[in-house]
Amino acid sequence: LSKRTKTFTDSVIRRMTRIANEYDAINLSQGFPDFDPPKEILNRLEQVAHEDFNQYAITWGAQNFRDALAKKQSKYMNLDLDSNKNIVVTCGSTEAMMAAMMSVCDPSDKVIVFSPFYENYGADSILCGANPIYVPLHPPVFNFDKEELENAFKQNPKALILCNPSNPCGKVFSKEELEYIACLAVKYDTYVITDEVYEHIVYAPYKHTYFASLPGMFERTISCSSLSKTYSITGWRLGYCIAPENIIEQIKKVHDFLTVGAAAPLQEAAVVGLEFSDAYYDELQKLYTHKKDLFLNGLKELNIPHTEPQGAYYVMVDISEFGYDSDLDFCVDLIKNVGVAAVPGSSFFKEKENRYIRFHFAKKDETLLAALNRLKDMR
Ligand code: GLN
Repeated sequence: LSKRTKTFTDSVIRRMTRIANEYDAINLSQGFPDFDPPKEILNRLEQVAHEDFNQYAITWGAQNFRDALAKKQSKYMNLDLDSNKNIVVTCGSTEAMMAAMMSVCDPSDKVIVFSPFYENYGADSILCGANPIYVPLHPPVFNFDKEELENAFKQNPKALILCNPSNPCGKVFSKEELEYIACLAVKYDTYVITDEVYEHIVYAPYKHTYFASLPGMFERTISCSSLSKTYSITGWRLGYCIAPENIIEQIKKVHDFLTVGAAAPLQEAAVVGLEFSDAYYDELQKLYTHKKDLFLNGLKELNIPHTEPQGAYYVMVDISEFGYDSDLDFCVDLIKNVGVAAVPGSSFFKEKENRYIRFHFAKKDETLLAALNRLKDMR
């Protein structure tokens, strides 16, 4: 078996879901909603089943889907995107990130990854032969140190990976922070690969800034995102890369040989979502603000220390006072004894860090309340 595949483990996030299911725990580990997607999308899916969408779509995405996506993202990203030149539709942003990295990195190239990081980036780097340089986001506010970041850039990286809003820590990078990263990307001639799947889940007063929208940045940015979180359809596996034409041409080839294409009927059904008015995204923001407040207030009442997310739908709970050496052991015991699943924070940090576990709150209110009720027994 390849050395490459021996150097990373399976996803701990997905593993926690399997253990949660085994013990019938409330699953606040792998982040996905337990409520329905918008009914317009589901109704359209029923119709699509009887229309002619059962064969391959165009490899880089059905025209309808790309047109609707280009229109929506041009507006939100403040760019003038061409649906034929700037977009590749992928199987989730998981594939988008992989295809983006394979398109810019050669074996032994370096990539900057902020830590804590979404665990896929580690495996993605290894799979394309690149070596990550980890730059810490310092808890509890998860800011980076400018000098530490510039030192990483001095090592001649090919790309920086930017998850914004950040999974797992809920950081929303400020415009000033992004402008600083942009300066370094120019100074050291580096690509920026973004993961912006939580672009529409940001809590006031924080605001999402698309990295590609900063002056001069579109040319060096591959913006990856997906429909999973925005339309509550994580199982549909619809994601995309947005980039300048010269980069998109490379991504098209990688994507073609990786997966040929994303599911044609699902792309067609999702078009109605991409055409929703602004009101939909405002409502989504309100919904998640409510869920965040509900869950965090519950944690506060239980005196469970935690960080304050600015975006995305995760909260890091500080378990240092619980006396465990291993956060994984803590999470397994939490499933078995309390009936709630979380992800051990160590799977997100490069540095040794056993202080946190991650809960997500993309669940019905009743599920969150039931989880909080069980968490009374956490102590
Ligand atoms: N982004 C989600 C999480 O971090 C899950 C993504 C996945 O498992 N593909 O929990």
